[in-house]
Amino acid sequence: MSTQIYNRVALIGLGLIASSMAHATRRAGLAGEIVGTSRSAETREIAQEIGLCDRIVDTAAEAVEGADLVILCVPVGAMEAVAKEIAPHLAEGATVSDVGSVKKAVIAAIAPHLPPHAQFIPGHPLAGTEHSGPRSGFAELFDNRWTILTPVEGADPQATEKLRSYWEGLGANVDEMEPDHHDLVLAVTSHCPHLIAYTMVGVADDLRRVTDSEVIKYSAAGFRDFTRIAASDPTMWRDVFLNNKEATLEILGRFTEELFALQRAIRTGDGDELFDYFTRTRAIRRGIIEAGQDTDAPNFGRMSKK
Ligand code: NAP
Repeated sequence: MSTQIYNRVALIGLGLIASSMAHATRRAGLAGEIVGTSRSAETREIAQEIGLCDRIVDTAAEAVEGADLVILCVPVGAMEAVAKEIAPHLAEGATVSDVGSVKKAVIAAIAPHLPPHAQFIPGHPLAGTEHSGPRSGFAELFDNRWTILTPVEGADPQATEKLRSYWEGLGANVDEMEPDHHDLVLAVTSHCPHLIAYTMVGVADDLRRVTDSEVIKYSAAGFRDFTRIAASDPTMWRDVFLNNKEATLEILGRFTEELFALQRAIRTGDGDELFDYFTRTRAIRRGIIEAGQDTDAPNFGRMSKK
C-alpha cells in the first residue's frame, strides 16, 4: 500500500530540521520526489554528496517548480526573502508551510507575498538538537514529538488535513493553535529557557574564580544541561527573540519576579518557601515523563562515559 501523500516536496534550507524531514519522508515513503535547495553552494554540495534529497537545485525558485508541498526551513529572519523569491514560481494550489520557531511574525513575513492560489499552513515541529546543518538530521527526530500547525484564516481544511497526515507520517503528533497562543506557549517552554541557559553559561564564563577546567570537570552538576542548550545555533536564536519580543518579554518579566521571590527566601532563610516551590516544580517534571516527552532513565538517558 502506498503511503505517498505529496507528489513533490520542496525543502528550502537544508539544515537540521529539513534534513531530518528528508530522512523521515523517505523512511515513510511520503513523497514521490524530494527536491532540496540551500543558500550556500557548500550546503548544497554536502546534501548532494550524502544523497539527502532526490534532487538538489541551486535556487528556491527552481526548487518549488511543480511541488505540491513547499516547506521553508530557514531561520525566521530569512523567511520573508524566501517567500518573495518563490511566490511567482509556486504551482497552482501548492501548499506552503514553514518550520519557524515563531509563528505570528513568520505569518506576517510570508503571507502577504503568496499568490491566492497557494495554501499557506504555517507549522512548527517541537523537536530539535543543538546541532545544525545538512549532516545533523536524522529520521527519528520527530517521533512522538509535537508539531503545531497554525492555519491562517481562509486556509483550506483539506490542505490542512493533508499536511497533518504528512507530519504524522514523519512520526509526530499534531495539534492546531492560534499563532499568538503558540508564541506564548513557546516563550514559556522553549524560548525563555534557552535565554536563561545562555545567561547561566555566560555568567560562568564571566566568573574569573571558576576556571575553565573546573567548569568542564564538574559540569554534571546541572550546568552541563545548560551548556547543551546554550550551544544552539546563534542565528536561529537571535531571530527567535527578535521575532517573539512581546511573549518572551512577558515571560521574562514573570521569571524575574519569581527569581526575586526565591532570592528573598534564600536571604531570609525561608526554607518552607523553597521546599514548597521545589515540590511544585518537581510535579511538572513527573508530568513531562508521564506524557512520554522525556526519559526517567538515570542521567537523563545519557550513555555513561567508560
Ligand atoms: P540550521 O541547521 O542552522 O539550517 C539553516 C538553513 O537555513 C541552512 O540550510 C542555511 O543555509 C539556511 N539559511 C540560513 N540563513 C539563511 C538566509 N539568510 N537566507 C536563506 N537561507 C538561510 O537550522 P535549523 O535548526 O534546521 O532551523 C531551521 C528553522 O527551523 C528555523 O526557522 C528554526 O527556528 C526552526 N526550528 C529549529 C529547531 C531546532 O531546534 N534547531 C526546532 C524547531 C524549529 P546554508 O547552510 O546554505 O547557509
